[in-house]
Amino acid sequence: MTLNQILRQRLSQRREAGLYRQRRTLSSAQGAHVSVAGKILLNFCSNDYLGLANHPDIAQAMNLASDSYGVGSGASHLVCGHSLWHQQLEQDLARLTGRPRALLFSTGYMANMGVISALLGKGDCILQDRLNHASLLDGGLLSGARFQRFTHNNVDDLARRLERLGQSNKLIAVDGVFSMDGDLAPLPDIVRLAEQHDAWLMVDDAHGLGCLGDSGGGVSQIFGLDDAKLPILMGTLGKAFGCAGAFVAGSEELIEALIQFSRTYIYTTALPPALAAAACKSVQIAQAESWRRDHLNALIGYYRKALEHFGLPSSASKTAIQPMILGDSQRALKWSHQLYELGVWVGAIRPPTVPAGTSRLRITLSASHSFADVDSLIHGLLECQKKVK
Ligand SMILES: *Cc1c(COP(=O)(O)O)cnc(C)c1O
Repeated sequence: MTLNQILRQRLSQRREAGLYRQRRTLSSAQGAHVSVAGKILLNFCSNDYLGLANHPDIAQAMNLASDSYGVGSGASHLVCGHSLWHQQLEQDLARLTGRPRALLFSTGYMANMGVISALLGKGDCILQDRLNHASLLDGGLLSGARFQRFTHNNVDDLARRLERLGQSNKLIAVDGVFSMDGDLAPLPDIVRLAEQHDAWLMVDDAHGLGCLGDSGGGVSQIFGLDDAKLPILMGTLGKAFGCAGAFVAGSEELIEALIQFSRTYIYTTALPPALAAAACKSVQIAQAESWRRDHLNALIGYYRKALEHFGLPSSASKTAIQPMILGDSQRALKWSHQLYELGVWVGAIRPPTVPAGTSRLRITLSASHSFADVDSLIHGLLECQKKVK
């Protein structure tokens, strides 16, 4: 068989399983309302939790910086791509997270791959929550360390596994807020276990930063975890901060070691300096404008109350990520299509992104939504419940 014949076969299998993925092309900026194929849709699937992806001051910061710094960074940070804007952003992110230092990566995926494989190798051990983001899991595999997955948020399972490990270096890695479920990792318990067993702890706070904590400091702020308790903190700039890129925050030694040993840091082009300038502005706005977090939390409460009122399936999540678990992939797709017909955009998340039998609508709320927008969402969900089995 030719390559194309093999691929055709794989593609049709995927289609038959209800797992085929397709892109929709936007002809507008991100926001509560987006334009797709000539239609205005109410958007409940982006990670733009604070409504900053199209903020005029952030766009202006990017424009101003590109007037003087141009577009391309020219090279990796270590060659000649590290500019004043990158330096400034690292300092701002260190301050935001209350860490001595921070280091920029081009994406969160690369940060997770690069950190784990820089810190661990053969003979070491990594323990990960089963529902961790793919980039943490892939980082663990790439590192060559012994890999264990513990049951989601199950501290007893983690403790049992830690007890069985010997003297090797051990890293526990978890999402701070789980990306498909919206629930939080039980970090105080995990910190205690890490201390008891001399394990290192890494938290990916892609969905907590900006949204959680009085000034958007994320899970480390709400649980009061400094870098002694939580030594490796990773965050992204493409979600609540509405930009792109990612960072790791921690001690002087951690950051210097990553600069030396992290291959996804060393062998890639630095982010455009103008993007770093935009992210500086975004971090500033996210910290200062706590009304965005307050409004987001009010919307979350309003939505959850409505679910309860109308007897719609709800989840335990109290964050901006509100999954509606429907089970079967085809069913999730049908609900998503029905919503689309009504002008409401919600993605159907299916395996392998989530475990089999837990296909869902991944509904995300944003500070850019109004209460009326949430009413429209609820109306759409009720229509689905009536019309789609
Ligand atoms: C989105 C995400 C990432 C990847 O970040 P990118 O900057 O988009 O590559 C990593 N971890 C989690 C938990 C995420 O949700």
